[in-house]
Amino acid sequence: MAAASTDSPMIRMSAVDKYFGSLHVLRAIDLEVPRGQVVVVLGPSGSGKSTLCRAINRLEPINSGRIEIDGVPLPAEGRSLAELRADVGMVFQQFNLFAHKTILENVTLGPIKVRKQAKDAARETAMELLERVGIADQADKYPAQLSGGQQQRAAIARALAMKPKVMLFDEPTSALDPEMVNEVLEVMTGLAAEGMTMVVVTHEMGFARRAAHRVLFMADGEVVEDAEPASFFGAPKSDRAKDFLGKIL
Ligand code: ADP
Ligand code: MG
Repeated sequence: MAAASTDSPMIRMSAVDKYFGSLHVLRAIDLEVPRGQVVVVLGPSGSGKSTLCRAINRLEPINSGRIEIDGVPLPAEGRSLAELRADVGMVFQQFNLFAHKTILENVTLGPIKVRKQAKDAARETAMELLERVGIADQADKYPAQLSGGQQQRAAIARALAMKPKVMLFDEPTSALDPEMVNEVLEVMTGLAAEGMTMVVVTHEMGFARRAAHRVLFMADGEVVEDAEPASFFGAPKSDRAKDFLGKIL
């Protein structure tokens, strides 16, 4: 029997394993993220944070286990995969905008092609989103004409235009000049406050303390700690986490 969508967690991973060749990158991951929860994922480089995100929107196939979004198992391929990707927005370190399309076109493309929205409606929604992330005045420019912070806000608007159920952020501010980090974090904080379900890989500890409901600490493909930010930062349990925090704080 299919779970009613309000009963199921927004993301459920059960016994998920992922290998790259002989490298065991995700080890028996069990994770439930309730709707509206903001999860910050921390951990040293190579611990599997990006692979976890990429598995959730099926950019990486998994070797075993099960992943469900809003009670629906991830599809293997085809049209349902495009819809899944639309339900799970992803923002990358390197903005990944289409270089030869304007900012407005970047934001309307998915809704028109995948969501089958009418062009006018898609444009109207896109302009509202660009307004919301503070770059409506940049709508007709090309990505290269924008600052890194503006490009990343455009990438967030593009993901939101699909009306996703979940937003994944993989080090969204790591490629930005320091003075642009906050403008992106502010947009993310706003989304969190509005109840978006979010998984955020970041080294921005201020954001983690302020916006996260929950911190996962990963090491060697495992979730080593799973705690509220105050207890994670105040009293990390594992030596790995203590060591990690000692290096970055
Ligand atoms: P993180 O995001 O925490 O730095 P990743 O998920 O990117 O970690 O990587 C986890 C491990 O998987 C690392 O050892 C990395 O080198 C390896 N890895 C990631 N992507 C690939 C790939 N496409 N092919 C082979 N190994 C990969
Ligand atoms: Mg990574």
